Amino acid sequence: MPGPRLAHKSAVITGAGSGIGLETSLLFASEGCSSVLADINLEAAERTAQRIHEQYPEVKAIAIKCDVSKEAEVEACIKKAVNEFGRLDIVVSCFENVTVPGKWLIAVHQFNNAGIMHPADDNALNTDEKIWDLTQNINVKGVWFGCKHAITAMRANPTDESKGLHVGGSVINTASFVGKMGAATPQIAYTTSKGAVLAMTRELAMVHAKEGIRFNALCPGPLQTPLLMDFLNTPEKLNRRLTHLPMGRFGEAIEQARAVLFLGSDESSYITGMDFLVDGGLSACYVTAE
Ligand code: NAD
Repeated sequence: MPGPRLAHKSAVITGAGSGIGLETSLLFASEGCSSVLADINLEAAERTAQRIHEQYPEVKAIAIKCDVSKEAEVEACIKKAVNEFGRLDIVVSCFENVTVPGKWLIAVHQFNNAGIMHPADDNALNTDEKIWDLTQNINVKGVWFGCKHAITAMRANPTDESKGLHVGGSVINTASFVGKMGAATPQIAYTTSKGAVLAMTRELAMVHAKEGIRFNALCPGPLQTPLLMDFLNTPEKLNRRLTHLPMGRFGEAIEQARAVLFLGSDESSYITGMDFLVDGGLSACYVTAE
């Protein structure tokens, strides 16, 4: 029987209190991964940690309050993961599936997922500059800070090429299908922020490829999570989108979490720089079936 897919690995997950981040935290724990669960809403992150403690008592989960738009807070999260899991002599399965006991080998897997879609985000004429700045600060700068400090942590992982050991890491940045497709239901600040995440992820993937640090952008389609459902608060708004969805339904957060698990595990060891669409076929759609 194969072991858990993330055994002995550690992760930092932002936006861990709800939606995709919550489901990813639970799924990672079920696969043996210890995590720092970061969210601006500490109580929500603590609820996620509590569920992990109850369901997977052998796995470590630490909730931490973090506003991803504040660099010092992001840095503190990543240091927390390195300190907590490193001092416990966490051993990492390397790409060749070799384990080296007793060494400080840490793969900090970083999932930069926290994001907002502000209800006052509208078209180019009606969107206030404050909404623009808030959205870019969280959705773009927050991802940059997460990547920046993950690179520092991952570079500190010892490597031994002579033994075929190379410990890098996997960084997954949550973008969106709206970074790939046009929509006439405008959210100019959000759409722009997600396009920036795609471009940032691609460049980081190229710059750090030879260090064994992979960067991929998860591009979810429209989902049944509070972020979107709070926004689509009338039947008209819901149906305006539903008619364009090939499967005739919104996606579920767990369907994104399964893709994050794949991108975070060594099963995707040759995948980097991808816009990884998990959108129920939306981006391939011209006309939906009757
Ligand atoms: P969600 O609202 O269910 O969860 C987002 C979490 O992020 C919340 O727990 C919230 O407290 C946290 N958060 C918000 N601002 C933060 C900040 N400044 N610092 C730290 N944490 C913060 O949303 P979700 O649907 O799970 O969305 C997760 C990601 O997926 C976002 O980046 C979103 O843009 C993206 N996405 C969502 C959809 C969708 O339809 N839901 C589609 C495409 C992309």
